[in-house]
Amino acid sequence: MRRLLIATRNMHKTKEISSILGDSYQVVDLSEAPGAPEVEETGSTFVENSTLKAVAISNVSEALILADDSGLEVDALQGAPGVYSARYAGPEADDRANNDKLLAALHGVPMEKRTARFRCVMVVARAGVVLGDFEGSVEGRILEQAAGTGGFGYDPLFVPEGYTESFAELGPGIKNGLSHRACAMEKLVDWLHGTE
Ligand code: IMP
Repeated sequence: MRRLLIATRNMHKTKEISSILGDSYQVVDLSEAPGAPEVEETGSTFVENSTLKAVAISNVSEALILADDSGLEVDALQGAPGVYSARYAGPEADDRANNDKLLAALHGVPMEKRTARFRCVMVVARAGVVLGDFEGSVEGRILEQAAGTGGFGYDPLFVPEGYTESFAELGPGIKNGLSHRACAMEKLVDWLHGTE
């Protein structure tokens, strides 16, 4: 079985990637690579940050590395929080603080203007060399209050187009079929099959 090391310490990302990939890959993350460096996300785009993570980790591991950089772009906020999604409410912010800040920033904005999208860029690298990048996105709207307990990050606030419930309410069965991560993974899986 081929092994894929995900350049993340976010167990939610690892779980989603692993369940989308199925049984054909052994998926591990940085929790199983204790000496791996902390990579600062100093880029201004998803692809820059994803590349930084994939290349840095591939320089210290022999595995095939997959990095995911993702976030939420809200139209009424000119694309914020974007690449700053994880630290929107500050460097130590948790999901709750980020969601509260987003709701405050959108206070009074009517539903038809609360359009947003999740974006994800995945970069694959080995031995310091980028082998490919794969992008996915999903359009939707931001609720006026959090709904649901599943998922992570902004899932309780995001309703994908064509649905009336948030990602947190819809659960992994639906989210992992249509999310930004699922779209990027579909392209990645095609590419992986071509390299077998
Ligand atoms: P990254 O680790 O810099 O890629 O940060 C991604 C951040 O974007 C996460 O911490 C979440 O706040 C947000 N995010 C990315 N993907 C998702 C998702 O699938 N659901 C909810 N929030 C997400």
